[in-house]
Amino acid sequence: MDLAWQLRQRDTHRALALAEEAESALAEAALTGAALARVLGRLLLLRAEAKWLFNDLDGSRALVALALQEFSGQSEGCVDSIGFADAKWLQACLAYDCGQSAAAREALEAMAGAARELDSVRFVVAQATLARDAAFKDVATAQQIWEAELARFAEIPQPAAVLAIEDFKGLVASLRSDHVESIRHKSLAYSLALDTGQLRRAIITATNIGGSFGNLNDHHAALEWMQRGLELARACGWPARVGGALMQTAETQRCLHRYDAAAAMLQEALSLLGPLHASRNYAIALHYLADVELDRKRYRSALEKFRLLEQRAAALDANDLLGVAKRGQAKALLELGEPEAALQAAVEAVAGATADPIRKIAALRVLAEIYARHPVAPLAGMTAENASLHCLQQAFEQAAAIENYTPPGDLFEAMAREYAKVGDTGRAYQLALQSIEVREKTHTEEASSRANAMHISHETEKARAESEHQRQLGAAHAERAEALERHNATLERLSAAGRLITGHLIAEGIYAALDSHVQALLGGERLEIYMLLADGSTLRSVYGDDCGTVVAPHEFDRGDASALVARCAQERSAVTQSGTSKAGELFGERLAAPLLVGERLLGVMCIQSQRRSAFAEHDKSIFKTLCAYGAVALANAETQALLIEQNRLLEKISTSDRLTGLSNRLHLDRVLQEEGLRNERYGSELSIILLDVDHFKSVNDTHGHQVGDSVLVAMAEVLTKGSRTVDVVGRWGGEEFLIICRETNSHGAMVLAEHLRTLIAAHDFPVVGAKTGSFGVASLDEQGGIEALIARADAALYKAKQLGRNQVQLGAV
Ligand code: GH3
Ligand code: MG
Ligand code: MG
Repeated sequence: MDLAWQLRQRDTHRALALAEEAESALAEAALTGAALARVLGRLLLLRAEAKWLFNDLDGSRALVALALQEFSGQSEGCVDSIGFADAKWLQACLAYDCGQSAAAREALEAMAGAARELDSVRFVVAQATLARDAAFKDVATAQQIWEAELARFAEIPQPAAVLAIEDFKGLVASLRSDHVESIRHKSLAYSLALDTGQLRRAIITATNIGGSFGNLNDHHAALEWMQRGLELARACGWPARVGGALMQTAETQRCLHRYDAAAAMLQEALSLLGPLHASRNYAIALHYLADVELDRKRYRSALEKFRLLEQRAAALDANDLLGVAKRGQAKALLELGEPEAALQAAVEAVAGATADPIRKIAALRVLAEIYARHPVAPLAGMTAENASLHCLQQAFEQAAAIENYTPPGDLFEAMAREYAKVGDTGRAYQLALQSIEVREKTHTEEASSRANAMHISHETEKARAESEHQRQLGAAHAERAEALERHNATLERLSAAGRLITGHLIAEGIYAALDSHVQALLGGERLEIYMLLADGSTLRSVYGDDCGTVVAPHEFDRGDASALVARCAQERSAVTQSGTSKAGELFGERLAAPLLVGERLLGVMCIQSQRRSAFAEHDKSIFKTLCAYGAVALANAETQALLIEQNRLLEKISTSDRLTGLSNRLHLDRVLQEEGLRNERYGSELSIILLDVDHFKSVNDTHGHQVGDSVLVAMAEVLTKGSRTVDVVGRWGGEEFLIICRETNSHGAMVLAEHLRTLIAAHDFPVVGAKTGSFGVASLDEQGGIEALIARADAALYKAKQLGRNQVQLGAV
């Protein structure tokens, strides 16, 4: 029975089966009186919870009532106060799902009353849930009253209690639009919910975190968390939770302008949430759908839905949703040509959104739009040029007060338009530029991947601090603290790994770093990294390590559905496989995750272990994080390689002659200077050969400049082929070439010059056929001096011309 109870959310069906067994065993156990009532009550409660999770609210309520009877006992007073408290808890949950918050509060009070003396955890859970309830109604007051109240329990080192408190704090922060703070609390709540088997809470928390990321305009991270919540909900099979996760995912899709997808998801969510139509979640789904309708410009339908939302919000006592309903109605009414009604609704929306700056910004923008389209006399106390600007300025003030918040680009645009209208074009231009900047900021892939990486390291830091706190509490609950420490140690190592991986700038270094960190953190026998080639469809293995042996390079087509790596690339998410591969190799489990930078897929990393079920959820998220680091590093390396290549090209362009591709004058001068220094220092020998083409002018005159050019190109080829690789062949200018012969005395240079002369004389040049050249050779003497060397080569060349051309002359020392 205990096990069944522990498993009721981890694996509801299995828990029910175990309960069945327990019940049959009960007949033989010969329990009576209070002991029997206690077990029967628990059984009823477990089944009630299962019914609730699977959307049978009436069935659940009936069983809870029976359980309460068992726990209360008939005559001898309460037989099981803890059971009673748990039943009251479920009763409260059911009441919330039916939108009966007063009944829910009553049940929670009863739960707190029953647990007060006996069980501090249940007491705190009841209190924290009451605090949540109060926060939805009035966050400021709730914070005032409850934060102090709950602080008294901060020392209870029980994960379930810490979870309840963190959850409350996360809610308060999100209602105040402090989304970073909210994510901080909710992340902790999420892992605690998983640890304690409260999967329903884990699902809700994951989607809440996604929502907070969405509010910070990091839609990439938002989708990732939503996906996590949705997957968990689907695995559990609870319709209301699937609906809840779907509707949050839809909202993120809406923010990414995928309206049709969002609408379809919301319709599905609303039908899954049907039995809970009076709940807050249902109202939120309505809110999201109404906003989608606004975005799709279906104003009549939007107005209808916002009006429905207003009714639900009023019934739920939810002021935040009431504000949303007013804001939405205002916008729809404006578009439907009813400015007075729109104005009234917008003013109410602004007045109602005192505690939540993001909602207030939204309301102010609608109000600004109304004033912009239907100008009014200046408002009292207004300093701006008109009412619309006044509202927009207020919206900016609100935005500035939110930490880490990027105001949406169209807020800048609206402001720019208004300034343009009042003739302040300078400011309008500035704001228009800012709007572009903001759009780029929120949409560039790099920004989102950096934000992700930053988030991870931020979380590491926070978790470390948290661990210190937990460690102090840990004396009483060593086991829990130990688990947390392990968790944090992993996080710290991950963060260190991230720094090391992203520290590399060369792809090979990154591969090796990834390999060693994957090994250290996850084990596994084989690691492979694939990069997506420029064709967009081939995945080529660039790194493969199988227990120290290099895996031979190979390729997959991205469309090859039978290959795990290809599937991973196709789905852009982590996938696993166990059993045998296509090639028939045996392995335990394989895990592949994409190397993504924002939307861009760079490749796939794949790890393999001999063990079956080698990779737990926890390992997967570590692997995905390492992949994220790897992707950022590889993208950096790519940029770096591009830069190096560009520099190399630039260097080549600046040192070579455009026509012939030989070294240019600049490069020749540089080499000569260097060689001159080497000669001075080490006495190394150096000779040069200066060559001038004979009667070149006639080529141009007879055949034109282009033919002249092609003869020069052919000449360059003959010279390059005829010289040794250590020689530097360059164009000295016009039809003159210079060959720098390192470590060569005058004799060697004379031999080379003569060799080149005969090659040229024998060459068949384009169009002109035969052509000759005159050569002047000179060697560096004891006095050194590059200028003198060149002058001597020049003089020798002149002499060769004088003596009839097509010959080699040595410059006198
Ligand atoms: P010599 O045997 O005395 O050297 O006779 P030459 O005709 O070669 O005389 P000179 O050196 O005075 O003339 C060089 C000519 O080379 C002048 C110029 O028009 C031509 N020339 C210089 N650079 C280029 C070039 O880049 N392309 C072409 N087509 N012609 C060039
Ligand atoms: Mg010349
Ligand atoms: Mg010439």
